[in-house]
Amino acid sequence: MSIKSTILGFPRMGSDRQLKKLVEGFWTGKATEQELVEGSKKLRADHWALQKTHGLSEVPVGDFSYYDHVLDTAFAVGIIPDRYKQLDTAGTQAYFAMARGLQDKSIGVDVPSLEMKKWFDTNYHYMVPEIADGQKFVLHSTKVIDEFNEAKALGYAARPVVLGPVSLLALSKTAKGSSSKPLDHLANLIPIYVQLLSQLATAGAEWVQLDEPVLALDLDSHIYKPAFEQAYGEFAKVSGLKYLLTSYFDRLGDNLELAAALPVHGIHLDLVRGVADLDKALEIVPQEKVISAGLINGRNIWKANLEKQLAILTKIVGARKSVWVSSSCSLLHSPHSLRPEAGHLDDETLGWLSFAEEKVEEVATLAAAVSNPDSAKAQLEANAAKVASRKQSERITRPHVQQRLAALDRSFYNRKAEFTHRQQLQHASLKLPVFPTTTIGSFPQTAEVRKARAQFRKGTLSKAEYQEFLDSETRKCIEWQDEVGLDVLVHGEFERTDMVEFFGEHLEGFVFTKKGWVQSYGSRCVKPPVIYGDVSRPHAMTVDVARFAQSCSANKPVKGMLTGPVTILQWSFVRDDQPRSQTAGQIALAIRDEVVDLEKAGIKVIQVDEPAIREGLPLRKADYDAYLKWSVDVFRLATTGVNNETQIHTHFCYSDFNEIFTAIKSLDADVITIENSKSDLKLLGALEVHGYSAEIGPGLYDIHSPRVPSVEEMAARFAALQKYIPAENLWANPDCGLKTRGWPEVKQSLANLVAVAADARASY
Ligand code: GLN
Ligand code: ZN
Repeated sequence: MSIKSTILGFPRMGSDRQLKKLVEGFWTGKATEQELVEGSKKLRADHWALQKTHGLSEVPVGDFSYYDHVLDTAFAVGIIPDRYKQLDTAGTQAYFAMARGLQDKSIGVDVPSLEMKKWFDTNYHYMVPEIADGQKFVLHSTKVIDEFNEAKALGYAARPVVLGPVSLLALSKTAKGSSSKPLDHLANLIPIYVQLLSQLATAGAEWVQLDEPVLALDLDSHIYKPAFEQAYGEFAKVSGLKYLLTSYFDRLGDNLELAAALPVHGIHLDLVRGVADLDKALEIVPQEKVISAGLINGRNIWKANLEKQLAILTKIVGARKSVWVSSSCSLLHSPHSLRPEAGHLDDETLGWLSFAEEKVEEVATLAAAVSNPDSAKAQLEANAAKVASRKQSERITRPHVQQRLAALDRSFYNRKAEFTHRQQLQHASLKLPVFPTTTIGSFPQTAEVRKARAQFRKGTLSKAEYQEFLDSETRKCIEWQDEVGLDVLVHGEFERTDMVEFFGEHLEGFVFTKKGWVQSYGSRCVKPPVIYGDVSRPHAMTVDVARFAQSCSANKPVKGMLTGPVTILQWSFVRDDQPRSQTAGQIALAIRDEVVDLEKAGIKVIQVDEPAIREGLPLRKADYDAYLKWSVDVFRLATTGVNNETQIHTHFCYSDFNEIFTAIKSLDADVITIENSKSDLKLLGALEVHGYSAEIGPGLYDIHSPRVPSVEEMAARFAALQKYIPAENLWANPDCGLKTRGWPEVKQSLANLVAVAADARASY
């Protein structure tokens, strides 16, 4: 039996982030459109060649994108809001305007981008298509057909990948002022898909991969079952084409029956996150349909345990006529290749990892092994040796960390007294005015700050010189905050590139890759740290900085500034050999020790940021409670080691928190600062519904643009907040850190913010 081996998609950026350079070069005018087109074509060809060389029998096409595949799909079916129609929609002008807005006075254009949203529970962000009442659909772009032809001309067996119509609409929103819902437009959209699919059939495609990842979510079957049946019923009429229906990131669960009954020719199963579906799928997916076994994890960077995955595959092959071997989801969420890490990471760690290129090899090995065990013997043995090495390595286990975590009783998760009692003690000790003002932590990371860091890393600035520079920046920053009249000061975070990287670099159990970049949105990539072992804190991380910063102000408290355990976990590649909750618990212990050390050093206010708590929420509601329970627990573990007088702050941004407001309350922080200015009403609504009795600082202005908010507009917002929050609990602060801003606008904005609080005090 010969088994098809393939993946659901490959990372687009290239081994050296060539796509980033091409696209950004094009935006700034350094590269021509022709160069962008040719460079991208070469990247696609390289990526197909890589897949074939490593033994895949079929490659996905259409997974490439200049910016985002959801945007590509919307653009292809003509979901182009009117405001972009004045632009050139045939070339890239309108496309990139939808992606990132366009402000060009010379042609009199000023249009914002589409909204951006997180792609399921990944760190990838997609552009949200915007559909208006009376939306007309047309086949506007033939990108996927062109890319299919390109691959065919190069001699590849290729399978076009298209985001399915139900997911496309479910991920869309309706334009302001429209009364229809996105799914209302399905009937009008289907003919455009049929047209696209027919053209793919004419071009010679045999299989088309239709991605319907919403099948991994809780769906209202009254709405979605007819929607899927209607769309796929029509697609079944296109002659000569076979469809692989894919879903990923979680089990199909109660959507499995629906998927199995659709008139498609194959069903993909994410057997990493959704292995619970397998037995039922083998039973109910009709025999004539292909099962695509997603056995290689597209979401993490560990070498697969091939022996274990081969056992699952063998079972499937024993039960089915047609089986494919594949990745669990697209490899978009994996870094490109391990090659650049040789010589950067130690050989042992290198042996444990697998990036996209290596994952392609793993897929091919599994397919070879199940067809003919002897043909893959060497690869399986090599894999088994690495897997065993990781299991046995002494670098991974730190028994004292495990024992400490296991021995904790509930007292480690509770403050000594209730909030109301703590509040009295804190007010007496801190002596802050009513409506205290503060900022979220970072101040502008100017070119000068970045330059000094780069010089220090290169070795052209000595450690002492760099420290002197940082001290002087911190001192200036504190003195300025003091002068302008802020009440609780921050040191400015000049020593940090990134709020997770900084802590990862100081903790044991983390490694950093050289080129482990993953696309976050558009041309932006992130390089998450890798947590490979038990986490511990060999030395204090922020105490010196905090002590120095506090010494720069005679009588105002300076906040200690830490990142919380869930956020550190969420923005790293996490080990898969123990539950996430346990890794988070270990990080929490390290942060707890830091919090206690800060208190000992005389720091009275300590902020532990958890902006990523919301994004760690599982896809299925049934899994919410378990996640929220341990994420609240680890935050409490990190923050409850202090005395009642010490004020614990936390901070949230990036998303809508209403869904987890109850959990936020259970964090038992003394003060939360929370992004608010863009969603006033929503946050106030949540406060109303859930009641909030601790102190809170809903952001008074958006920090994402250089615009200076006026006293009047912030005062209006502040007045609205006072209706919901008792004066003694209300803080005045911006939405988030000021790292990406420039000093001139920061100075004006914060001076205005201080004025708002002063006016409010005067009339209090
Ligand atoms: N303390 C961090 C800062 O101000 C918080 C960043 C964040 O919330 N993303 O930069
Ligand atoms: Zn923030």
